[in-house]
Order: sequence, then structure tokens, then C-alpha cells
Amino acid sequence: MQLLDGKATAKALKEDIAVSVAEIKAAGGRVPHLAAVLVGSDGGSKTYVNNKVVACEEIGFESTLIELSEDASEEELLALVDKLNNDDTIDGFIVQVPLPDQIDEDKVTLAIHPRKDVDGFHPENLGKMILGLPTHISATPNGIVELLKRNNIDTSGKHCVVVGRSNIVGTPMAILMSRNANPGNCTVTVVHSRTANMQEICASADILVVAIGKPEFITADMVKEGAVVIDVGTTRVPDESRPKGFRLTGDVDFEGVKDKCSYITPVPGGVGPMTIASLMQNTLNAINMS
Ligand code: NAP
Repeated sequence: MQLLDGKATAKALKEDIAVSVAEIKAAGGRVPHLAAVLVGSDGGSKTYVNNKVVACEEIGFESTLIELSEDASEEELLALVDKLNNDDTIDGFIVQVPLPDQIDEDKVTLAIHPRKDVDGFHPENLGKMILGLPTHISATPNGIVELLKRNNIDTSGKHCVVVGRSNIVGTPMAILMSRNANPGNCTVTVVHSRTANMQEICASADILVVAIGKPEFITADMVKEGAVVIDVGTTRVPDESRPKGFRLTGDVDFEGVKDKCSYITPVPGGVGPMTIASLMQNTLNAINMS
């Protein structure tokens, strides 16, 4: 088994982006500027947003963190989105999900200008991705594609099983892996909570991408010998032996599966860092979008 080291691959991608930023600066241009909106004080969301701000600093982007209180209204957030859409000094922005119950996430997604939607969640960006047109591709699936590419994993003609069908991970992942591209050209099966023969389908995967948020759900009997396993899951499982009182746990039983597969992503240190690096790539691309 070889570890698919997302941390190292993300570092390499961020170094490439930093070179582009330095070139922009040297030419007298304005460096990319990412804004991140955090509503409430959920510990996980706060950590994710902070990691994104740190990544901006590492590669030379400008960043702005905007925090709204847990009881912020939908109108307040939509007004902020409108302001960011019209702020020419900001190239792209994200609104960290999940949002508090009083705010309709779909309304917020639709309100973000597609050019500034560096998370790639807006329907216009999803539609362009399906058509293979240049656009912002959802950061997590795009990060996984980049991880496969930079680690020379052959995907053509392989059976890729995507577990989970969310709009931000599973569904775009399935589309990207079935495209006529490299990585891509897979025969793709999507499985979800209503799938009858999960074990059998997963065990037939050459490439298994799991995004369900169920700690250690995928066990060795669901993994084919020599498969490439990508674990997207990040659940905080209580663990008093850890300083923070929890451990970040993937959707795959890593210990049980690791000796069976050819490659596997760790949690943490796999898909998470690639998502952030991919968000940075989208922000860099945003400066040339009209
Ligand atoms: P989500 O919106 O909750 O969707 C979960 C999907 O999993 C749904 O399609 C659901 O099926 C499916 N599912 C749930 N239980 C299942 C089961 N027992 N068998 C088969 N399918 C099942 O989740 P998400 O936003 O895609 O995120 C998934 C996980 O990835 C979470 O742990 C999240 O924290 C993590 N994540 C990590 C990153 C990263 O950068 N590392 C980024 C995004 C998400 P139905 O549609 O049938 O309900």
C-alpha cells in the first residue's frame, strides 16, 4: 500500500500557485484576494475557514475573514453576499457551510456571482463543468482529481465507485471521473443510502471514492484487492485521549483496509489539504474570469 499524501501534494500545488502570484506582483499586478464568510462559531467550520486564511498567507494572496453571529438573519447574509459580489477588490469568496437553520443554503449559493463562486457550488458553474467548459469546479472533487493526476494514478477504463451523492462532493466527483479527460475516462457507479447491494458494488471498484460522513463505514470486505481508495469523510469522533477531545475520522476503516489497497488517502492529511489548495487555484483563476 502507498499513502496518497494530500498534504505533500497540496504543498506542491500551492508552491506552483505562489510562483504565479510572485509573477503577477513582479509585473505590477494586483494579487488575488479571497474573502471567507463564517456564520456562527461551529468549531469545525472555524478551523476550516482559518486553514483557508492561512493558505492565502502562505501563497501570497490577500484574504479577508468576515464573521457573522450565529443568529445572523438570511437577509443580513444575502446583503453581505451582494456587497462582496460588487466589491472589485475581491476576486472570489466562500460562505462556509453548514449554515444555521434560519438561513436557506440554496438561496445563498444562488446569490453568489458565478465568477466569484470559488467553491464551485453555483448551478452555472456546475453546468459549465458538465459541459467541460472552463469554470470553477467544486474544490473537493477538483482537489481529488489533482491528487490522482499529480500521483500518476491511471484512471482510464477503470471502474470508479463514488459513495455519496451530495451536490458538493459525490455528484460532481462522479461527473469528473466519467469525463473524457485525464484523470477521467472511468466507468462510474454512484451509490447512496438507498443502494441495495453496496458491499458487492464497492468491492468491484478499481477506484473507490467515499464521501458519506459515516466514520469507518467502509470495511475490508467492501474493498477490492489493489484498489485506489479516496476517503473524503471527516467526522469529529469523541476521544478523551486527544488534547482537543476528539479525533478526525474518515469514512474508511483505514487499519482494516490499508493492506488490501494499492493507494489510500489518510484522514487527516489526504483530501482536506487538497480541497484548500484547489480553492486557492480557483481564486487564482478568478482574476482572469469575466
Ligand atoms: P452529505 O451532504 O451529508 O451527503 C452524504 C451522502 O452520503 C448522501 O448522498 C447520502 O445518501 C450518503 N450516505 C449517507 N449514509 C450512507 C450509507 N449508509 N450508505 C451509502 N450512502 C450513504 O455529505 P457531504 O457534504 O458530501 O460530505 C460527506 C463527508 O465528507 C462528510 O464527512 C464531510 O465532512 C466530508 N467532507 C470533507 C471535505 C474535505 O475537504 N475533506 C470536503 C467536503 C466534505 P442519500 O443522498 O441517499 O441521503
